[in-house]
Amino acid sequence: MTTLRTAAQLCEHGYVPSGRRQAIEKVAARYAVALPESLADLIDKNDPHDPIARQFIPNAAELDHKPEELSDPIGDEAHSPVEGIVHRYPDRVLLKLTHVCAVYCRFCFRREMVGPDKPAGLSPAALAAALDYIRSHQQIWEVILTGGDPLILSPRRVRAVMKSLATIDHVKVVRIHTRMPVAEPDRVTTELVRAIKIKGKPTYVAVHVNHPRELTKQARAACARLADAGIPLLSQTVLLAGVNDTAGVMDELMRALVECRIKPYYLHHGDVAPGTGHLRTDVAAGQELMRKLRGRASGLCQPTYVLDIPGGHGKSPIGPSYIRRSGPDGALAVVEDFNGVEHRYPVRGINFGRT
Ligand code: SF4
Repeated sequence: MTTLRTAAQLCEHGYVPSGRRQAIEKVAARYAVALPESLADLIDKNDPHDPIARQFIPNAAELDHKPEELSDPIGDEAHSPVEGIVHRYPDRVLLKLTHVCAVYCRFCFRREMVGPDKPAGLSPAALAAALDYIRSHQQIWEVILTGGDPLILSPRRVRAVMKSLATIDHVKVVRIHTRMPVAEPDRVTTELVRAIKIKGKPTYVAVHVNHPRELTKQARAACARLADAGIPLLSQTVLLAGVNDTAGVMDELMRALVECRIKPYYLHHGDVAPGTGHLRTDVAAGQELMRKLRGRASGLCQPTYVLDIPGGHGKSPIGPSYIRRSGPDGALAVVEDFNGVEHRYPVRGINFGRT
């Protein structure tokens, strides 16, 4: 078995009961499907609530689009001055090299843009224009390679992009967003690692991981190849109902990431992508989860819980907050410790800034 891409293949290999085949075919006709062997092997076919299956096996609920859901939930298009570039914040841009991924996540915020039926990637002319845009905007300090999954490209193509970025003096940092170390760990070869590591441009790799079971021996080895080459690793995790929305699973995941030399970076609240309502939690549940994580795990294990404001207004940290106003005139503060116990902060006139 390599990568499963159709409802028929998912049925044949026992990941979807044959009675659901037609429903899944309809979903697969709308949204891309790919389940590589490394992730398929993690699925417990006897568990109807398996957290790996929930992320990657199509579900009929994906065709249930809610009024609040958006085809471009984080507003990439509104901030795209040239093909392949998203320039939302002054000091950084996304460079979207490809629309293809090794695995298609059922909650993907770019699900309307990714897939094998979409244009595979930037043409040489479009890539040249995107690099020209970066070159001509001095304020761009960081370039984030994303997609799709940029590490699905050959080491030769990755190296060519990295070499081009290395010639732009004002670009000081490159970041690569990828799911490849967990989706197809064997593709994170020493050749690919060498392609990523370009002299003079510190490059961070942000690995997308949502459940501790994804960090298999092979995935850990892939991350180790990157870390051993001196590439700093960060994580991105999407908060998903029935996958990682308990303190036990989140604790285990964050500890496993740190053990793999991956610093937990973002815990994303689920974006309002079409047909993903069954996988979203509410914000209060996410805040409570973060509070529990703070109470039980090292500071190294704490990601920032963020929400991308629909419409392209960027990310905001969404708490929880551990400090609040107190006292008759609201001028004192109460601070909560990691056990949830409140303490007066003994300074009058504390300035909370904007409310
Ligand atoms: S790997 Fe990333 S871009 Fe690709 S489907 Fe998953 S979330 Fe979307």
